[in-house]
Amino acid sequence: MNENRPLQDAVDLFEDAPCGYIVTRGDGSFVRANRTFLEWTGYSLDHLQSGKRFQDLLTIPSKIFYENQYFPLLTMQGFIREVAFNLADSQDRDLPVLVNSVQKADPRTGDTLVLSTLFGARDRRKYEQDLVRARQEAERLSTIVTMSADAIVRCSPDGLVETWNPGARRMFGVDESDARGQRIRAYLPSLSDADWTRIVGTLQSGESMTLETEGRHASARLLDVSAGFAPHFGPLGRLTGISAIIRDISESKAVQRLQYEFLAMTSHELRTPLTSIRGHAQLLRRQGRYTESMVQRIIDSSDQLGRLVDDLLLASSLEAGQFDLQPTDVDVKAVVQTSVDQLKGVSGRTIQVEMTPDVVHVWGDRLRLAQIFSNLLSNALKYSDPETEVVVRVSRSGTEAEVAVIDRGSGISADDLSRLFDRFYRASATADNAQGVGLGLYITNHLVHAHGGSLQVESEVDRGSVFTVALPLFGGQDSGTASRFDAARATDTLSNRN
Ligand code: ADP
Repeated sequence: MNENRPLQDAVDLFEDAPCGYIVTRGDGSFVRANRTFLEWTGYSLDHLQSGKRFQDLLTIPSKIFYENQYFPLLTMQGFIREVAFNLADSQDRDLPVLVNSVQKADPRTGDTLVLSTLFGARDRRKYEQDLVRARQEAERLSTIVTMSADAIVRCSPDGLVETWNPGARRMFGVDESDARGQRIRAYLPSLSDADWTRIVGTLQSGESMTLETEGRHASARLLDVSAGFAPHFGPLGRLTGISAIIRDISESKAVQRLQYEFLAMTSHELRTPLTSIRGHAQLLRRQGRYTESMVQRIIDSSDQLGRLVDDLLLASSLEAGQFDLQPTDVDVKAVVQTSVDQLKGVSGRTIQVEMTPDVVHVWGDRLRLAQIFSNLLSNALKYSDPETEVVVRVSRSGTEAEVAVIDRGSGISADDLSRLFDRFYRASATADNAQGVGLGLYITNHLVHAHGGSLQVESEVDRGSVFTVALPLFGGQDSGTASRFDAARATDTLSNRN
């Protein structure tokens, strides 16, 4: 056996170690470098020993770090561990390394030597960067999950809640600590066992699924929701979790329902007069002679159709904010009287009129004002027994003209009162007994506000209702005449309609 073998082994170990070894002097100039280091950097030992310093091999940021941090620290504590440097190799390619250094005194000369090991860190850097990127991505996702208005929930394969974002807390009124461990189906009460089995089956096959169902708020209020479910699989391909994104779609569902109801209602309301027109025209033809009453029915039904179409058009232009008033000085008492006379004629009912002796003028659109009073009067007639009395009272109150329409009819419940001026709203108690599409009060309220006024209702079920329109008087509060008029103010009021 060769006696020199162990020594040779040690030299080999030094030269071919899986890391670079270098020995430098205090100023960084090279004393030694092992083969691994020379291979990595592409430099020869001669080249390094002929005046190169370790810091000359560093990229600029690493060189700055070397001078400001590494070297002072090394001098101070005599060693330094795991410093990340980027070397530039002989081809100027980046070579990331981790360096451990220790200071020693040369036993022969007493000079300071620095012994360093360098570990290749390319993979480790990449791994670190991947980790940073993954963390940033996770942070981005977690912001989305936290801020989302949708409920984002993760559950186990058997549907027990594991995570619950703030959106879920708002949607269902339940804190994450209370929701965790509960069945997700407790919050989606319409999902049956069969539905859940179907969802899990689909997810197990690797597909996501979305369905519309009901959600239950802690207050027992039900919401329309759209729920999207997605599977999570473990490394062995087993379903390990389920993500659910639940969106409150109550509003769009309500709009959809309103549209259906509106279509059903308008088709019904359009069909009734149309059927009557056609029926009477066919009767006239069969009889072969002209009957005044039949022609009158045709005219009445055409008027009814015309009114409905006008209301629909007006409601849509109010909605789009595209409608204009043609304001003039209007005598309210005269307009109310005309509306009363017309309705009396059509309904054959008595309407009692009570008018202040004062002059009551407003600045407004005569036709639209007539429409306001006619709508209220015709409702009062429509929603009260023919034997009962309808009263219209015109008065002045401070700077306002007041027109009150009073009936002793069915009245309106407190629940209905809050929605009375909504488009297409009809109180359920009366909707079936009287024709209408629920646009009259919506339009009336808009028109009153467009005149700078207000519309109030007081009502009691089975006792009757009082609708009061208040409009700014034209001519100020003190005079009983319409001689003074602040045109600029009145025009402003009209253009500030809502
Ligand atoms: P329509 O009469 O076409 O249904 P309106 O918008 O004029 O539409 O009225 C909306 C609802 O308000 C009516 O369906 C009715 O239920 C209720 N209503 C309006 N006026 C009265 C009234 N004077 N008495 C009782 N209910 C009324």
